[in-house]
Amino acid sequence: MGRRPVDASPDGWATQLSSASNLTDYDEARRDFSWAVAQRFLSGLPDARGINIAYEAVDRHVATGRGGHVAIRSIGRHGTRELTYRELMTLSNRFANLLRSLGVGPRARVFTVLGRQAELYVTALGCWKNTSVLSPLFAAFGPEPIRNRLLLGDGEVLVTTTSLYRRKIAPQRDQLPALRHILLIDAPGEPPAGTIDLGTALAAQPDEWTIPATSPEAMALLHFTSGTTGTPKGAIHVHEAVVAHHVTAAFALDLRPDDVFWCTADPGWVTGTSYGIIAPLTHGVTLLADDGDFDAARWYQLLADNHVTVWYTAPTALRMLMRAGTEMAARYDLSALRHIASVGEPLNPEVVVWAQEAYGMPVHDNWWQTETGAIMISNYPSMPIRPGSMGRPMPGVEAGVLRCGDEGRAAVTDGQVEVLGADQVGELALRPGWPSMFRGYLHDDARYLAAFAGGWYLTGDLARIDADGYFWFVGRADDVIKSSGHLVGPFEVESTLLEHPAVTEAGVIGVPDPIAGEIVKAFVTLRAGYQPDEALRGELLAFGRRRLGAVAPRDIAFDQNLPHTSSGKVMRRLLKARELGLPEGDLSTLERPR
Ligand code: AMP
Repeated sequence: MGRRPVDASPDGWATQLSSASNLTDYDEARRDFSWAVAQRFLSGLPDARGINIAYEAVDRHVATGRGGHVAIRSIGRHGTRELTYRELMTLSNRFANLLRSLGVGPRARVFTVLGRQAELYVTALGCWKNTSVLSPLFAAFGPEPIRNRLLLGDGEVLVTTTSLYRRKIAPQRDQLPALRHILLIDAPGEPPAGTIDLGTALAAQPDEWTIPATSPEAMALLHFTSGTTGTPKGAIHVHEAVVAHHVTAAFALDLRPDDVFWCTADPGWVTGTSYGIIAPLTHGVTLLADDGDFDAARWYQLLADNHVTVWYTAPTALRMLMRAGTEMAARYDLSALRHIASVGEPLNPEVVVWAQEAYGMPVHDNWWQTETGAIMISNYPSMPIRPGSMGRPMPGVEAGVLRCGDEGRAAVTDGQVEVLGADQVGELALRPGWPSMFRGYLHDDARYLAAFAGGWYLTGDLARIDADGYFWFVGRADDVIKSSGHLVGPFEVESTLLEHPAVTEAGVIGVPDPIAGEIVKAFVTLRAGYQPDEALRGELLAFGRRRLGAVAPRDIAFDQNLPHTSSGKVMRRLLKARELGLPEGDLSTLERPR
């Protein structure tokens, strides 16, 4: 951890901070770690008025004389734009003033449908300064996922681009009565009716803002994630989460103030906020914000031109880079790079090994999810990597593997669970208690409570721990699909397909794919009178793309006899087993084909 406060505990893990890596002795750090001590690495609001993410990320650096350091180097279609910490402070102050002038108060939900433009950071930080709640969505979502989330999250403000607004929001604005203000980042002059040009509005606001007292438990973020059934879930995170963002970035990403850090995650994904905005800024680094699409040569050029030192990316991208070849990597000067980390999907061991050959260093896999808010399990720079393993739990985090029952989830008997020993597969679980732990699913206490048993938070993943304490990912315990890093809820996709007049029923599964991890495949039953031909298949694929965007099915099969459980639900697990030619398992709850 580069920024060492004078009052930090002089013993234990806090003394390990050295030039070699932030975490030099994992076992010692784990033994001595406490979240209470960790909190001292941040400053809290002046006059002990609580803790606010935006203060820790920006204003604190200005107060300690680093206001002139470049906070964000934003690279987009219109060139490069740099914002220093001082400029970011001023712009986010103006954004907070703008929210107040619009009558947007604390706890109000501010949504973004943006890429990594500079306005994303200004919006996020200004929103927290006003103690409003940020909810970032994928710009690649189609109109339906956007509308569903705005409705579920009570969206009051939306910040987006003119083109996204015209294509995805304007046609359905009458269905979003609670959405009071739409701010467009690129509509100077005459913005479309009922919208505001953000740049013009910000220019009219004062530069000064005093962050109000902020409780550590005040809601700061609403991240939508998908489950097996039902609507998307809005995971609630609070301002105190910033302690976990900061500490985990120190340990797992090895961030220090002089770093140039590139997190390639989309802002619509939790990684794009925790490590794409908050954690790096709390460390005072220069953040590279690239708004372009993936392109192997362009990415290498970005790494080289910007002297990126720490790079946090995802397995799908790394697999594509591996496919582009070692020779391509060798053409670029990547000598500034000192640490590479990856998250979001299983990272193939061969990618870890290939990176050593191509970049002269391995990729450090780590594991976490929307609900955990921060990295929970990681390979650390100071620890030998076991390619294929997610690493070991973060100091301050207790992880275990629980015995599963017939349903494939942790078995709970009289409120108790059984913790498994080494090399046994079960559900990965975490002991609640770290600062970025989600505090609930918005308006859905039942689903929140169902995520806990026997004093553990149940992650929905299957894993095993080896004899040395390394964690190995085995698979999902539920039907959720991971496609190019997107967590896709089959229910949401099925519901959309059912809106097509030809479809009476749908079952959606993930099918393994060498690059994307999994692709979304739908099995549909047709209404009488429709022909299962190529024309209809093409029409359904296009229908899915139009409505759902990035989470749409990539393949559709016709099936007039979808398998059902005795309660009438489509058995996705059986569809998957059949698709993959695997044993069909226990079919006792299977209904005979109708
Ligand atoms: P999300 O909430 O969208 O970030 O998705 C979280 C899920 O992604 C986890 O529950 C895992 O299923 C998967 N995941 C995240 N990191 C890893 C990893 N390092 N290895 C395997 N799966 C991962």
